Amino acid sequence: MTPADLTFDRQHIWHPYTSMTQPLPVYPVARASGCELTLDSGETLVDGMSSWWAAIHGYGHPRLVSALQQQAGRMAHVMFGGITHQPAVDLCRRLVEMTPQALECVFLADSGSVAVEVAMKMALQYWQARSEPRQRFLTLRNGYHGDTFGAMSVCDPDNSMHSLWRGYLPDNLFAPAPTSRFDGEWDERDIIPFARLMAAHRHEIAAVILEPIVQGAGGMRMYHPQWLRRIRRMCDREGILLIADEIATGFGRTGKLFACQHAGITPDILCLGKALTGGTMTLSATLTTREVADTISNGEAGCFMHGPTFMGNPLACAVASESLALLAEGHWQGQVLAIETQLRDALLPLREHPQVADVRVLGAIGVVESRAPVNMAAIQRFFVESGVWIRPFGRLLYLMPPYIITPEQLHRLTDALARALQKPELFQT
Ligand SMILES: *Cc1c(COP(=O)(O)O)cnc(C)c1O
Repeated sequence: MTPADLTFDRQHIWHPYTSMTQPLPVYPVARASGCELTLDSGETLVDGMSSWWAAIHGYGHPRLVSALQQQAGRMAHVMFGGITHQPAVDLCRRLVEMTPQALECVFLADSGSVAVEVAMKMALQYWQARSEPRQRFLTLRNGYHGDTFGAMSVCDPDNSMHSLWRGYLPDNLFAPAPTSRFDGEWDERDIIPFARLMAAHRHEIAAVILEPIVQGAGGMRMYHPQWLRRIRRMCDREGILLIADEIATGFGRTGKLFACQHAGITPDILCLGKALTGGTMTLSATLTTREVADTISNGEAGCFMHGPTFMGNPLACAVASESLALLAEGHWQGQVLAIETQLRDALLPLREHPQVADVRVLGAIGVVESRAPVNMAAIQRFFVESGVWIRPFGRLLYLMPPYIITPEQLHRLTDALARALQKPELFQT
């Protein structure tokens, strides 16, 4: 990449959540392989992010590349209206088999945010079809469900700046975020505000939507499984649907194939994305029960009102199937457990550090919450100079490496993270 390319990038290309006038530096990456990103300059960085939860098998996995190449030779895309194809059938069969038994019907879409829109629409259409229209969602503070408007309306109101969209966003219900930690004691009082909100609005609520066990981009919090059991029970009692957004947590990241399994519950609607294609392409899936699907289908519209142009894209489905086949071989379990053990050993002692407010580890996720927000440009440079790709946000420094990472590579990540804490200039004062 030439300096002119980088100038063009700064002047014309938006990056996620960045300013067009004061863009933060971006690092040109030329290649990615295994657990390493290679910069244009030739330096290699150990990847601690899995490209935002996605690249669970690392980059350029030969089986994923081959699945993609073979499918590209046959058919890159074809519309899904009135047509079906082997990659979609194979993928959906795998999804129905690997998710809880009650989840039988799969809707494929393009991204996580759209999977959430689809889930919310399903809930609205479900109640519409029962001639009992309900238009509100109950969720937890500190949640993150995506950047489209429906999804944003259930994201944490402060983190996602609901003030910007006042008058435009639907008015949903927010219970305080769980305080009973995953690794702590269950406190029965934790659920009271949620229970009160549900009781007060029980005839308005179409569905509860939440991220099971790990709240991702809204704060990387990990909460007690008893929360989920209680919520499942309350939803059952009121007949309210439960939407589990496992876009981040799905496919082994928390140590279980799906985070709902920590609590032994089945949602009525399940959203999957991110790691679905092993980080190769954008694809998402929303699964639901026969009952929800039938109710929607027997309603006024006679169908589910959604159908993206690139629905069931064969390339994405083929590579997703192969990624699920890799998972089905079962190596992920030992890999995630080994990562968890090493993250605990390396990160938990950092709790004693004066700069550190908290440390949380679950599965292949390690979070160090600092007392002060990071100085983004400076800490990013420090990590790149240390040969690692770690991208903090706010006060959160976190690692979620590909499952195939070696102990040496993981050590480089935790070591760089620990060294960053020794440098006050990398944090805002
Ligand atoms: C990333 C994420 C989304 C949004 O997915 P996109 O593919 O970025 O649209 C939704 N929910 C959760 C829990 C996520 O982590």
